[in-house]
Amino acid sequence: MVDNNQLREAVKKTISRDDVKYVVGYEKGTYGFQTTPCFAYKPEDADKFIFSPLCVHNLSVFPMLEEKPPLRKGEEPDKRKIGVVVKGCDSRAIVQILQEKGLDRDKVVIIGIPCTGVVDPKKLEKMFPGHIKNVEVKDDDDKFAVTVDGKTQKIQKSELIPDKCKTCEYPTPILYDILIGKEIKSNKNEDYKKVNEFEKKSLKDKWEYWEKQFDKCIRCYACRNACPLCYCKECMVDQLNPQWVRRSVNISENTAWNLLRAFHLAGRCIGCGQCERSCPMDIPLMELNKKIEKEIREMFEYEAGVNAEEKPLLAMFKPDDPEEFIL
Ligand code: SF4
Ligand code: SF4
Ligand code: SF4
Repeated sequence: MVDNNQLREAVKKTISRDDVKYVVGYEKGTYGFQTTPCFAYKPEDADKFIFSPLCVHNLSVFPMLEEKPPLRKGEEPDKRKIGVVVKGCDSRAIVQILQEKGLDRDKVVIIGIPCTGVVDPKKLEKMFPGHIKNVEVKDDDDKFAVTVDGKTQKIQKSELIPDKCKTCEYPTPILYDILIGKEIKSNKNEDYKKVNEFEKKSLKDKWEYWEKQFDKCIRCYACRNACPLCYCKECMVDQLNPQWVRRSVNISENTAWNLLRAFHLAGRCIGCGQCERSCPMDIPLMELNKKIEKEIREMFEYEAGVNAEEKPLLAMFKPDDPEEFIL
C-alpha cells in the first residue's frame, strides 16, 4: 500500500522548487468511486493528494497538453517543469514520448508509484451499482477492501482489476525522479490470451464482431483525448483539407477512424488502457491495440515505452527485419 504521507511530502518538495510550475496527481473525487486529477501550485495543495486502487487515470497526458497551450496574444509560455505522479504502466507513456522527442526529459519531474493494481471502474460500478458517496477502496494484499456506507467487504483482486494489471510486467515506473516506497518486481507476462482466441475465428466472424463494435462509436474522440500518445498538434480527423475521414457517424467512417487511430498507435501504444476506459460506448479498443502489439513483438521483438535510450520502432531499421508484409 502506498504511504500517502510520503507521497504528499514528495509533492510538497517538488512544488517548492522554483523551476516547477505545478504537480499533477490524484485526489478523491466527489462522485462515487471516482478519483480525479488534481494540481498543486503551492506546497499546501499537496495535502489533498492521494494514491489508492481508484487512481486509474494516466496523468502523463498532462505534460503533453502543456506543450500546446492556447496562448493569448503577447503571452509568453511558462517553460518551467511539470511534476507528474505515475504508476508503472503510465511511466511507459513518458518513456515513449521521450523517445519520440515529444517532450524533453528536463521538462518533467516524475513521482513514481510502485503499483500493485488498480480497479476497473466499470467492474466496480457493476458490483456496487448506484453508490455515489461514502465509498472507499483500499489495497489489502491479494484483495481489495471495498467500503460502502461504513461496511467493508474484501474482494479478490482478480475479480476487479482490468486485464492490463493481470499481466503487468512493469509495476514499478521505468523512469522516475522520486519513488514512493519500494520497487516491486513482476513475475507476470503478457500472454495475449484474448488475441489468440480471437485469431481462431473465421474472417467473416472477425469482421462481424468489429463491425458491431465500430457501429456503436459516436465519434466523441474521448479515446483520443485520454491517450497520452495521441498528441499531434492537429489530429487527422480534424483536418478539412484534405479531409481524411468524414465527420458523419456511420459504419464506414467509424471503421476508418478506429483503424486509423489503432495504426497511428502501432509500435507506440504502451497499453495503459485509457482509451478503452474512457470510451462511453464500451468498445473493446484494447483488443485492437493488443493485436497490433502482439504482431510487433513477434515481428520486431520490440516493446513500446520500455527504454528511453532506444529509438521508436518506426525510426529503426535492422537488415534482418521481416518484410513479408511488403507487397
Ligand atoms: S498495469 Fe501495472 S502499473 Fe499499471 S495499474 Fe496495473 S498493476 Fe499498476
Ligand atoms: S471513445 Fe469510443 S465512442 Fe468515442 S470516438 Fe473513441 S471509440 Fe468512438
Ligand atoms: S492507445 Fe489506449 S492503451 Fe494505447 S497508449 Fe493510447 S490510451 Fe493507452
